[in-house]
Amino acid sequence: MARTIDADICVGCGACCGTCSFEAIAPQEDKYAVDAVKCTDCGACESACPVSAISQE
Ligand code: SF4
Ligand code: SF4
Repeated sequence: MARTIDADICVGCGACCGTCSFEAIAPQEDKYAVDAVKCTDCGACESACPVSAISQE
Protein backbone atom coordinates (compact mmCIF):
# COMPACT_ATOMS: atom_id res chain seq x y z
CA MET A 1 0.00 0.00 0.00
CA ALA A 2 1.03 3.57 -0.61
CA ARG A 3 -0.34 7.06 -0.39
CA THR A 4 -1.25 8.71 -3.65
CA ILE A 5 -1.55 12.36 -4.73
CA ASP A 6 -4.57 13.40 -6.79
CA ALA A 7 -3.01 15.62 -9.46
CA ASP A 8 -6.36 17.29 -10.11
CA ILE A 9 -6.43 18.56 -6.51
CA CYS A 10 -2.69 19.14 -5.85
CA VAL A 11 -1.64 22.80 -6.13
CA GLY A 12 2.08 21.99 -6.20
CA CYS A 13 2.94 23.76 -2.93
CA GLY A 14 5.52 21.15 -1.93
CA ALA A 15 4.50 21.03 1.73
CA CYS A 16 4.19 17.25 1.65
CA CYS A 17 7.66 16.74 0.22
CA GLY A 18 9.53 17.80 3.38
CA THR A 19 7.42 15.57 5.63
CA CYS A 20 8.43 12.33 3.94
CA SER A 21 11.34 10.58 5.66
CA PHE A 22 11.61 8.08 2.81
CA GLU A 23 12.11 10.54 -0.07
CA ALA A 24 9.02 9.08 -1.70
CA ILE A 25 7.56 12.42 -2.82
CA ALA A 26 9.08 14.29 -5.74
CA PRO A 27 8.08 17.05 -8.15
CA GLN A 28 6.38 15.89 -11.32
CA GLU A 29 5.67 18.53 -13.93
CA ASP A 30 3.99 21.34 -11.92
CA LYS A 31 2.60 18.97 -9.26
CA TYR A 32 4.05 16.39 -6.86
CA ALA A 33 3.80 12.62 -6.99
CA VAL A 34 4.38 9.67 -4.64
CA ASP A 35 6.76 6.88 -5.62
CA ALA A 36 4.72 3.84 -4.59
CA VAL A 37 7.87 1.70 -4.33
CA LYS A 38 9.49 4.00 -1.75
CA CYS A 39 6.30 4.91 0.14
CA THR A 40 5.85 3.01 3.42
CA ASP A 41 2.29 4.33 3.85
CA CYS A 42 3.28 6.01 7.14
CA GLY A 43 0.75 8.79 6.56
CA ALA A 44 2.99 11.70 7.63
CA CYS A 45 2.43 13.61 4.41
CA GLU A 46 -1.35 13.40 4.45
CA SER A 47 -1.97 15.91 7.24
CA ALA A 48 0.57 18.34 5.73
CA CYS A 49 -1.49 18.87 2.58
CA PRO A 50 -3.60 22.04 2.76
CA VAL A 51 -6.00 20.85 0.06
CA SER A 52 -6.35 17.18 1.10
CA ALA A 53 -4.94 15.86 -2.16
CA ILE A 54 -3.24 12.85 -0.51
CA SER A 55 -5.11 9.66 0.24
CA GLN A 56 -4.55 5.93 0.48
CA GLU A 57 -4.35 4.10 -2.81
S1 SF4 B 1 2.82 8.04 3.43
FE1 SF4 B 1 4.81 8.38 4.46
S2 SF4 B 1 6.29 7.32 3.15
FE2 SF4 B 1 4.42 7.59 1.93
S3 SF4 B 1 4.74 9.49 0.79
FE3 SF4 B 1 3.64 10.01 2.69
S4 SF4 B 1 5.24 10.58 4.17
FE4 SF4 B 1 6.23 9.46 2.48
S1 SF4 C 1 1.03 19.30 0.10
FE1 SF4 C 1 -0.76 18.73 -1.19
S2 SF4 C 1 -1.00 20.45 -2.61
FE2 SF4 C 1 1.04 20.63 -1.73
S3 SF4 C 1 2.39 19.54 -3.21
FE3 SF4 C 1 1.78 18.05 -1.63
S4 SF4 C 1 -0.05 17.02 -2.45
FE4 SF4 C 1 0.26 18.92 -3.63
